[in-house]
Amino acid sequence: MPITTEDTVNWLRQLAQVLHENRDYLTQLDSPIGDADHGINMDRGFKAVMDKLPSVANMDIGSILKTVGTTLVSTVGGASGPLYGTAFLRAGMATAGKNELDEADYIAMLEAALEGIKARGKAQPGEKTMLDALTPALEAAKAAQAQGLELPQMMRRASDAAEAGMKATIPMLATKGRASYLGERSIGHQDPGATSSWFILKTLTDTCT
Ligand code: ADP
Ligand code: MG
Repeated sequence: MPITTEDTVNWLRQLAQVLHENRDYLTQLDSPIGDADHGINMDRGFKAVMDKLPSVANMDIGSILKTVGTTLVSTVGGASGPLYGTAFLRAGMATAGKNELDEADYIAMLEAALEGIKARGKAQPGEKTMLDALTPALEAAKAAQAQGLELPQMMRRASDAAEAGMKATIPMLATKGRASYLGERSIGHQDPGATSSWFILKTLTDTCT
């Protein structure tokens, strides 16, 4: 079963809801190691995405994802707006003109998003950022492909790996973004961006399976 345009629209709707419900949680995570706005930022961004969605819902998946990207860039302040904006823009470029995504397309989309975040934020895995959820997710998806698994299992493996990656940010020392200002005091806290990245992948999996 591929990911369809309809799945994509349902995913984004569900994601806006999940981010709204977790607005306080994400903001609480951002309070000891940031400026307590990550939930506010994500909720604002995806509310704006919901306003734009009806005008692009009949387009191809790439166009929908590119619209998400431009909307996030223009409505979300902070580090996460440009980073997730770039991720969705690149994901949209990787899926341009497609109305269905198969296993290889899912991997290409995730890889493009990850490369976009790296290019924009100049971070590497291990620095306590969203990359620490997304990088293991991509690796898990590639491992699933090598095992010949189909898309639903691939997506589940990827979102489970993102969850493990998110938890693995707790003992990490932050060396990028606002949390890096805290130095050693950043240790012992879960990264908010890694947490929202898990929500993004988990919601896609839940919507499609
Ligand atoms: P801000 O830090 O500007 O307040 P947010 O609170 O919305 O923005 O987002 C913070 C999250 O952004 C962090 O938890 C981290 O995951 C992510 N982040 C910050 N800087 C980078 C970077 N250079 N590369 C990747 N992710 C980053
Ligand atoms: Mg913040």
